[in-house]
Amino acid sequence: MKYVLALDQGTTSTRAMVFDKAGNTVASAQQEFKQIYPKAGRVEHSPQDILGSAVGVISEALVRAGVSAQEIAAIGVTNQRETTVVWDKKTGAPVYNAIVWQCRRTADFCNKLRRDGFAEKIYNKTGLVPDAYFSATKIKWILDNVDGARARAERGELAFGTVDTFLLWHLSKGKIFATDYTNASRTMLFNIHTLKWDNELLRLFDIPSAMLPAVYPSSHYYGTTDSRLFGSPVPVCGVVGDQQAALFGQQCVRSGDVKNTYGTGCFLLMNTGDKAVKSGNGLVTTLGATAGKKPCYVLEGSVFVGGAVVQWLRDEMRIISSADESETLAKRVPDSGGVYVVPAFTGLGAPYWNAEARGLITGITRGTSREHIVRAALEGVAYEVCDLVSAMEKDSGIKITRLAVDGGASKNDFLMQFQSDVLGCTSCRPKVFETTALGAAYLAGLCAGYWSAAELKNSAPDRVFKPKMSEAERLRLLDGWHAAVSRAQS
Ligand code: ADP
Repeated sequence: MKYVLALDQGTTSTRAMVFDKAGNTVASAQQEFKQIYPKAGRVEHSPQDILGSAVGVISEALVRAGVSAQEIAAIGVTNQRETTVVWDKKTGAPVYNAIVWQCRRTADFCNKLRRDGFAEKIYNKTGLVPDAYFSATKIKWILDNVDGARARAERGELAFGTVDTFLLWHLSKGKIFATDYTNASRTMLFNIHTLKWDNELLRLFDIPSAMLPAVYPSSHYYGTTDSRLFGSPVPVCGVVGDQQAALFGQQCVRSGDVKNTYGTGCFLLMNTGDKAVKSGNGLVTTLGATAGKKPCYVLEGSVFVGGAVVQWLRDEMRIISSADESETLAKRVPDSGGVYVVPAFTGLGAPYWNAEARGLITGITRGTSREHIVRAALEGVAYEVCDLVSAMEKDSGIKITRLAVDGGASKNDFLMQFQSDVLGCTSCRPKVFETTALGAAYLAGLCAGYWSAAELKNSAPDRVFKPKMSEAERLRLLDGWHAAVSRAQS
């Protein structure tokens, strides 16, 4: 067996990547699919589109690599988390579109849960805060709003799954009905301490247990793809949510290891080993992937607007023509000239959790140029991540000295250097940039015996950014940021 294939099913596109033994990418294929916005605040995907794109990119990547399915030792699946699909167990047909993690349709119900005092119980069991983001209230919405769905679910005719589960079901023609710990931990139905679906929460959300998939470790033999799909059956040996896949792909496998992904938003995850750390600062506690049978615990915080502020500069402000130009402009000025951009376009996440906050630019003078604004916008992303890192340090009691970075905006050397400076810590950007796909491939390859854990240790850094700023300057800049953040909330 020569290769391992990762299927990376993301929010806007699906990718397949073929890796060789050295962890190099041999070939890849990618397809975008439609985003469906039926009403303000609602986001859906067609499950058929997702499935079609998955089968399509796997076939295309095999062709591009010039290899047959027989030469693939294992497939690892990684996916957009929390997105919810309900389908008929006999026909495999979805009863409704996939409700995407971004969809806010159940926000009122979640507010009611908080008002009714369920937040603590939910947090103690699942590590999550009651929010429309997680799957539980999305499943309930489908059962309550699709004609006949609740009765069918109660008769045991319907299945629920996050996207991994839906794909496994269809890739195996109904033989695999399973998910992994990391995906289960994002449903708000899974007890992260007992590692079981929680009956009390199932009753609270009115969800029949017959709908739920079996839950296994991320590195596990799930079964094989149906032989008719790719010419011969391929073992599926890895399943993992995208952020936890990146954490594993970065080899953040020891307690205290941290990675931050700079995509549309930013996702900061810390491996806390076998300890579920409670957050007093608005982070969530969730499950992470390991090479073994037991998952690890992870502290997670996210900011809503990361690289998206660069898209805003390009598409709405039109002061840059490409994302890359943000770096060139930022480097043309020695500092932001006292300007701060707080990118709170959709409110502020951890550690502020203020849905009413809005974006703000402060400190503009007659001398402020577009270079200053662009630089301040990039700096704003770094400051947001600083706030997450401080929350994580407070919760974990661990001082973060090294940050593994990835995601589209981590290509920006200015942003990475400034991040290191204001954090006062080293940032490491890996050579293999697709850490999410790599993490899924690693987990699958470990289970299939293609790699040993020792072989994964040394993924080489592309570049290491060391802090260069004085402590006094760092603190002065952070003070200015915090003043701007409080104004964004007033
Ligand atoms: P996602 O997985 O969330 O779609 P990606 O990891 O593909 O995100 O990263 C895309 C984001 O990265 C976009 O928001 C884009 O604006 C940003 N981005 C891409 N290149 C750069 C760059 N050179 N500098 C800053 N941001 C960038």
